[in-house]
Amino acid sequence: MTTNVSAYAAPAANAPLERTTVPRRAVGEHDVLIEIKFAGICHSDIHQARDGWGEGIFPMVPGHEIAGVVTEVGAGVTRFTAGDRVGVGCFVDSCRECEYCRQGLEQYCTQGMTGTYNALDRNGEPTYGGYSTHIVVDENYTVRIPDALALDEAAPLLCAGITLYSPLSHWKAGPGKNVAVVGLGGLGHMGVKIAHALGAEVTVLSQSLRKQEDGLKLGADHYYATSDPKTFEKLAGTFDLIISTVSAPLDFGAYLALLKTDGALVNVGAPEEPISLNLFSVIGGRKTLAGSMIGGIAETQEMLDFCAEHGLGAEIELIRADQINEAYERVLASDVRYRFVIDAASI
Ligand code: NAP
Ligand code: ZN
Ligand code: ZN
Repeated sequence: MTTNVSAYAAPAANAPLERTTVPRRAVGEHDVLIEIKFAGICHSDIHQARDGWGEGIFPMVPGHEIAGVVTEVGAGVTRFTAGDRVGVGCFVDSCRECEYCRQGLEQYCTQGMTGTYNALDRNGEPTYGGYSTHIVVDENYTVRIPDALALDEAAPLLCAGITLYSPLSHWKAGPGKNVAVVGLGGLGHMGVKIAHALGAEVTVLSQSLRKQEDGLKLGADHYYATSDPKTFEKLAGTFDLIISTVSAPLDFGAYLALLKTDGALVNVGAPEEPISLNLFSVIGGRKTLAGSMIGGIAETQEMLDFCAEHGLGAEIELIRADQINEAYERVLASDVRYRFVIDAASI
């Protein structure tokens, strides 16, 4: 039997979010019922609630940075018990059989992962995300939040944290590597923290020097404004790895010029419009332009354990649910330091 729970939803594309109720399925054999304590606001929530990536499923309850506590488990659940502190990220299911699912790369499932919201589950029912009081999730798509991390500061790790941890680890950021993070927002600030903890030399490339002091405190060694054309002259050929977290189309050619030979520019930002690129910018210097999407379940657990070990929670601004629409406008204005997190008690 389904249960209706409180949630904040966009009733239609571009409509303000408002309080409503959504159904949660009965706790199945392998499911956990989670009382959501905190939900982060990712820029992807805004892209989707505004149909920026194509037609969404409405009403839409965004939220894929979920931190909470297990309150009930199904009969077949082996990994969690009531009272456990847990997280849920961007997906809640996948085919479990394809070559990528078997390798723990569920985010690249050939059948398509089931998004935590704005998706249809394997039974064709719409999924509803974390701006809600409760969620029912299969234990295999649930991760453990270590005690060393506060739940509110842990919530953003479930998307922003893993989205930066995965490429930093795949492209081997570490001692002796010169890494730049483009855009100091939700993803970017976690990128700076994680890259610094991995031992890399870290540079922030931000639109202005407005957040320079914060960037250096977060662990950056250098900070430059991309609005200053001298930045691009000065930093030509400097980086082994650049990760762009920018939510709008960028001049990637200009950033590729900042790489060393064999360097990689990894894009994780998901702008709504395409870019154009002169391919000579990858030919010279044998450069790589790549992308990366969140991370698998096992890697998400590894990231949470890494963040706990290094004391890396997100920098958050805790808000009430009735402030979500205002928070969206501030994210769009790059006025977030550095993740809005909704206190689910206010939902
Ligand atoms: P965010 O908090 O808004 O951060 C984006 C940052 O990009 C801003 O703070 C700003 O940093 C910079 N920026 C924004 N507009 C810009 C522009 N026109 N030109 C240059 N820089 C600009 O967003 P987020 O939550 O970190 O998400 C960033 C992007 O990643 C979004 O598109 C989101 O959908 C996507 N995303 C992708 C994945 C994935 O798996 N690949 C996962 C999560 C999110 P400065 O003020 O420092 O310049
Ligand atoms: Zn996200
Ligand atoms: Zn699969």
